[in-house]
Amino acid sequence: MSIRTIPFVDLKAQYDVLKPRIQDRINRVLEHGQYIMGPEVRELEDRLAEYVGVKHCVSASSGTDTLLIAMMALGIGYGDEVITTPFTFVATGEMIALLGAVPVFVDIDPKTYNIDPSKIESLITPKTKAIMPVSLFGQCADMDVINSIANMHGLPVIEDAAQSFGATYKGRKSCGLSTIGSTSFFPSKPLGAYGDGGALFTDDDALAKLMREIRVHGQDRRYHHPRIGINGRLDTLQAAILLAKLERFDWEVDRRQAVGARYTQLLAERCHEVQTPYIPPCNTSVYAQYSILVEDRNAIADKLKAKGIPTAVHYPVPLNRQPAYIACHENVLTPISDSISARILSLPMGPDVVLDDQDYVVEAILEAVETTS
Ligand SMILES: *Cc1c(COP(=O)(O)O)cnc(C)c1O
Repeated sequence: MSIRTIPFVDLKAQYDVLKPRIQDRINRVLEHGQYIMGPEVRELEDRLAEYVGVKHCVSASSGTDTLLIAMMALGIGYGDEVITTPFTFVATGEMIALLGAVPVFVDIDPKTYNIDPSKIESLITPKTKAIMPVSLFGQCADMDVINSIANMHGLPVIEDAAQSFGATYKGRKSCGLSTIGSTSFFPSKPLGAYGDGGALFTDDDALAKLMREIRVHGQDRRYHHPRIGINGRLDTLQAAILLAKLERFDWEVDRRQAVGARYTQLLAERCHEVQTPYIPPCNTSVYAQYSILVEDRNAIADKLKAKGIPTAVHYPVPLNRQPAYIACHENVLTPISDSISARILSLPMGPDVVLDDQDYVVEAILEAVETTS
């Protein structure tokens, strides 16, 4: 086999297909000139709310800012506790800590890598103000179980759905499964912009109003600020790009599922040393990442790299082991998240993965695993 160069995420192939629509959308913004909160922003919010099946969508500047806005709207602040997972991108824990609250890290399920709902209840205290599961790698956490625990304790649930826009849980769409759903439009996410962006989803009218105000400096009308907010708006240009990309999104979700299923089929039947992702029957995944578990992960990643195959590690260090968080979490025991983070490896993934390239990646993995022990 000759060496190839495989993209980890192929944004160019998507652009080539959508080019006329994206350029048309961008040009319309350049013509009307409403770069801040232009008409595309509301149009996008309406489309996304309909897609998810909730009453309100509030777009925002990033998937990090959406988490911040959500928690500010829920009144989370100094000394409060928010229950979450340590096996996630840093923003999840970071926004809790930024508000002066304490992230309480709960270990993950060894099969889905999402928060283990059976470990949540014992960590609820009078200071607990919310539960924030993450729908990691494109599939939802066990939201019904989490919601029922939250209901019993009168707690809101924020789904950090930055990686799962388009996924379903028991036939319902991610982002519409709890008090607030929060997603990201970072370019490589399942629905990606050409820059930063994010969105919040809720059926709660009062929360939607609060989140809209917090997004614009806590303003309820021009230069009138009943509360503290942030500059958290989505750019009109990014909204325009997302509107163009939405036209292909259903097809992309199908393709992601097909590419994910094909990886699993090719790898699982030929190699028992590679653990492929487990998607429970109640879930569909949009495979924000296609991540396998292998022993000697770094050696295998090096061998793939030598063959022009990029990989990534999501995530090498759980949040409770990160320098910024370790002081208060040194004694938190999360053996499963520790073990998974040492073995996880993400492969090239996306709607535009070429079958031939996928075969090449699979062959390279099989060979790398065989020659590494
Ligand atoms: C990407 C991501 C975020 C942050 O989104 P940005 O748009 O990059 O700010 C938050 N949480 C998770 C789980 C993510 O994957």
